[in-house]
Amino acid sequence: MSGIALARNLTDAGYRVLVLEGRDRVGGRLNSTTTVAPGSHVDLGAMWIHDGIAGRNPLYDLVVSLGLKVSPRQDYGSIATFSYTGQRTNRSSFGRMFSSWYSQLQPALARLKGATPADNRSFGDVYGEWLAANTQFTAADRGQANMMMNTNYQSLLNGNVTQLSVARLGDAKSIPAVDVMLKDGFPALVDALVAKGGLDIRKNTVVTSVQQDGDGVIVATADGTNYTAPYVVMTQTLGTLKAGDIVFDPELPPEKLQAIEEMGFGVLDKALFVFDKPFWDTSVDFLLREMPDWSGRWSIFLNYHKLFGWPILAAIHVADTARELEKLTDEQVIGEGMAVLRQLYPGAPQPVQTAFTRWAAEPLSRGAYSYFAVGNPKNITRTLAQPHGRVLFAGEATSDKPATVLGAYLSGLREAERLRTLLGKPTGTSA
Ligand SMILES: Cc1cc2nc3c(=O)[nH]c(=O)nc-3n(C[C@H](O)[C@H](O)[C@H](O)COP(=O)(O)OP(=O)(O)OC[C@H]3O[C@@H](n4cnc5c(N)ncnc54)[C@H](O)[C@@H]3O)c2cc1C
Repeated sequence: MSGIALARNLTDAGYRVLVLEGRDRVGGRLNSTTTVAPGSHVDLGAMWIHDGIAGRNPLYDLVVSLGLKVSPRQDYGSIATFSYTGQRTNRSSFGRMFSSWYSQLQPALARLKGATPADNRSFGDVYGEWLAANTQFTAADRGQANMMMNTNYQSLLNGNVTQLSVARLGDAKSIPAVDVMLKDGFPALVDALVAKGGLDIRKNTVVTSVQQDGDGVIVATADGTNYTAPYVVMTQTLGTLKAGDIVFDPELPPEKLQAIEEMGFGVLDKALFVFDKPFWDTSVDFLLREMPDWSGRWSIFLNYHKLFGWPILAAIHVADTARELEKLTDEQVIGEGMAVLRQLYPGAPQPVQTAFTRWAAEPLSRGAYSYFAVGNPKNITRTLAQPHGRVLFAGEATSDKPATVLGAYLSGLREAERLRTLLGKPTGTSA
């Protein structure tokens, strides 16, 4: 997203921009499938425009200006809840847990957040203490608490609860929020920006090293071709920066290397189960299952029928649980998922189609999106955004709104602006 936003902006202003894209498609973490159900565009990467409100979100406004259709708002309060073994949960017991959560845990988190920068504790530390202090909680209460913790924090932020910073809660994503989806999938946005024409994009071109001297930058690629330019903007993911997939010469400065190492980069995977017709409660947005532990394994199913009428359930897994599931075969994932769905809905049929993401295993992503880990200062994203000589940096993790498509988009515009200042008026051949 950030690279195409930058290229669109500078190309429209008359600068010459070359986009080197390692994959055979543009969009990066915006990807969707149209093959699982007739007429569907199911997002495999980002799916929600967070805070999709006209006039308050430039990404939402861009989407509308491009004529793309958005869904009704996702309703996070619209849930059907189940015990771990599949019985429908009594609404009043859920209500009790819900009020205990908001009257005790939320204020404790807010106090600790206010205590920054002294507080260096993980969400898991605080949550664990809260559970331990509430000795009156039954096993069912704990199951509901774990379900809420996983849904509202762990899955949203795509990091293990034991690594999420309490001090930074709310500095990336938070819910409840006004979230909408693109009816034709998030890649439609990038496609629309590319379709305006004039972008020079070289697909299947994997960058391996970036070498700069006083005059310019040489970018080497896996196929042996070298490209030279006065400036280069890196939009690779934080995951690939952590892995050192691209070699920088001269090396990145110590403070940037430290930020790359310390900022969290998580995993969020989707398991799509497509059926001939729905057998579940289609009036709710989510099916949620209580958990005896913090893993969130088969705890969240997003009901695509509610917003789009597609007979699809998407199970969402994050962090270590997602990494564990990525190691299973498709058949094993189907077996586990269907065993749980049949606990919730005995007699549920076999899916007619399935699709599973494995974002951690994708070499050009190595995960899903960034999160604030314990100890991260809020300005860690600014360190990640710092230019290194003639090498500039964009992408969600460099943005003040990390973890989001909006942040990626804004970071692309930010670096376009920086380049305009550095390059001066376009000559048609200067960048
Ligand atoms: C499963 C999932 C769910 C998400 N859900 C949401 C959501 O609901 N809402 C939201 O706002 N955000 C969500 N996000 C986050 C959002 O997708 C990202 O913040 C955003 O798309 C990142 O854009 P980017 O430009 O920073 O990076 P990318 O889109 O990852 O772009 C980086 C590009 O660099 C390319 N690349 C990498 N290495 C090389 C190399 N060596 N050589 C050449 N090219 C290379 C990649 O192929 C890619 O095209 C989600 C992400 C995932 C994965």
